[in-house]
Order: sequence, then C-alpha cells, then structure tokens
Amino acid sequence: MFCKKCDMLMSFKLFDPEKPLHGKCSCCDHIQEIKFNEIPNYADVMTFEHFVEMCELGGFIDYDGEGQLATKDKAAELYIKPSHIKNNEIFKHPKVKEIYTHVAWYNR
Ligand SMILES: [Zn+2]
Repeated sequence: MFCKKCDMLMSFKLFDPEKPLHGKCSCCDHIQEIKFNEIPNYADVMTFEHFVEMCELGGFIDYDGEGQLATKDKAAELYIKPSHIKNNEIFKHPKVKEIYTHVAWYNR
C-alpha cells in the first residue's frame, strides 16, 4: 500500500503485537493503519493454523509464492512468506491471531 509519508508503494510489516492493525513502512518506518481489500478469487484461502502447518511440514517454501494475512473474507496488505513463520514471534501473539485468522496464498 502507499505510504503516507514517503509516498511510495511499499510493503508494511507488523511491528507491535499490541497494534495488530498498524504496520511500519519498509522504507521510512512510518506507521499507519493497514488496508484491507477483497480477496481475489485466484487466491487460496486457508486458516492461519493450516498455513503454519503447511510451512512447518515443508508443504510451502518461499520459492512457491507468497501470502497475505487475512480475515475470513478480507486480505490485509501485509505479506507473509513461509520463512517468516519460523523467524517471527509476532504471528504467535494472541492479538495478532485474533484478527488475522486466515491467509490468502498466491502460488507463483
Ligand atoms: Zn514510507
């Protein structure tokens, strides 16, 4: 999504599990509210738990594609790769899990 500070189309990252609806710009560290969009019908929608299982079992690797954190019917502009699951505790936080119950996965 577009960063309101640097004006660039940037990826945003979760930075604080207590603020799961805000992300930090990868370019300038500006913090803003995450946008949600309709999930396109070419995405594979699965529960977050299922996504984690697939990553842990090696069913998904970074090469295969990328996902978006999602609710059951909306995708957040927060992108996730299988390696993020291992390296980022933020996804295990209850406040984060409460909102992002699903993942919209895009095979490449
Ligand atoms: Zn920015």
